[in-house]
Amino acid sequence: MKIGFIGLGIMGKPMVKNLLKAGHELVVLDHHQENIDIAVQAGAKAAATPKLVAAGSDIVITMLPNSPQVKSAVLDEDGVLAGAKAGLILIDMSSIAPLASQEIEKACAVKGVKMLDAPVSGGEPKAIDGSLSIMVGGDKAVFDQVKDDVLLKVGFSAVYCGAIGAGNTTKLANQVIVAANIAALAEALTLATKAGVDPQLVFEAIRGGLAGSTVMNAKAPMMIASDFKPGFKINLHIKDLQNAIDTGHDVGSPLPISAQVMEMFQTLRADGGGQDDHSALAKWYAKVSGTKIGK
Ligand code: NAD
Repeated sequence: MKIGFIGLGIMGKPMVKNLLKAGHELVVLDHHQENIDIAVQAGAKAAATPKLVAAGSDIVITMLPNSPQVKSAVLDEDGVLAGAKAGLILIDMSSIAPLASQEIEKACAVKGVKMLDAPVSGGEPKAIDGSLSIMVGGDKAVFDQVKDDVLLKVGFSAVYCGAIGAGNTTKLANQVIVAANIAALAEALTLATKAGVDPQLVFEAIRGGLAGSTVMNAKAPMMIASDFKPGFKINLHIKDLQNAIDTGHDVGSPLPISAQVMEMFQTLRADGGGQDDHSALAKWYAKVSGTKIGK
């Protein structure tokens, strides 16, 4: 299949490589030439605008930071819709506001383009090994059409969640849970360190019990090593929590825990740490406790 792919960041690059491995032809675009070069070296072709990416593609995948970037890539004068033939399938795999997915889908429908919102969970390691968890909104028939040949070439699971926007609503739920987990982990490991117990031993002792989690397995070693290379950037988690809080306010579902973690992330961003991995919440606890976890 001919697939256009826009957004070759931490997630997009390995996803492109897995689609190439699956035998698809890829045409790619990013704002950074070095990302394009990496994809081209792996076997993709490059195009200069989203319009040109869409021309000749059966499917276009977007993997961009947030709603404004996806809107721009799809709806601008030289955007995907300007180059798309009727019947093209747009799969937006970015994590954006559910309302934005619905707006973009309406514009797609006018041009005969079908759209799914299909954000992912799993981070860079699972993007590399092609085992992302994918949550999908849109027309079920379109989902069935792309599930095996496209989604399951970058993911381990793809679950249909409902109408357009349902994928991103599911992703917001995911991000609320991840934020609270990372905060609890940083709080707990800071407590243990301050009380004189080695955080590595705490991790080893509790990871198999009820408190154990995917978040703990991925982020405790980073906190213990003070290695905050992203991974998933604080700036992106702020974006997700803002989208969650906005959506919560819209539907009347308060998010007090997310609001608290949001302000902790905002403190770190104000201190210049927006590009750090979200496990750098440990730095917030180091500041207020005077004790650093691990090294
Ligand atoms: P990133 O910042 O590493 O990459 C984004 C890429 O998009 C960059 O290379 C940038 O140059 C490019 N870009 C931005 N605007 C563009 C435009 N208009 N046209 C072309 N290229 C443009 O981000 P990422 O970590 O790859 O995340 C992408 C999406 O996936 C985000 O919505 C994020 O929330 C989500 N996500 C990330 C992770 C993770 O662990 N990194 C996990 C799950 C979901």
